[in-house]
Amino acid sequence: MKQVKLIEYEEPKTWADIPWATCSEAGILITKNAGWRNERPVIDPKKCIGCGQCYLYCPDGVISFAEGEVSIDYDFCKGCGICSGICRRGAIRMEEER
Ligand code: SF4
Ligand code: SF4
Repeated sequence: MKQVKLIEYEEPKTWADIPWATCSEAGILITKNAGWRNERPVIDPKKCIGCGQCYLYCPDGVISFAEGEVSIDYDFCKGCGICSGICRRGAIRMEEER
């Protein structure tokens, strides 16, 4: 079995130090969630100010944050709604999955 590579933790000093798509690189997300999700988060770009809080709080690391634009990988989002709850701008609403 392949050994897991441990990386020494360093406190991020700027946004640039935070890895893109935090969990994906670790290889944790192997099962697509879209099939059993009841609700999906939808971002309103008019309300979003690009603060990155949803990106930091998503437990599955499926929110990416590039050049101030936030997007969600719906293949792996489980619809927990944490991102919607943490967004102070009300920019993420949960919609019923169809
Ligand atoms: S928490 Fe809300 S305002 Fe901040 S980046 Fe996410 S969607 Fe945008
Ligand atoms: S609903 Fe949950 S898993 Fe999906 S993007 Fe929001 S915090 Fe992440």
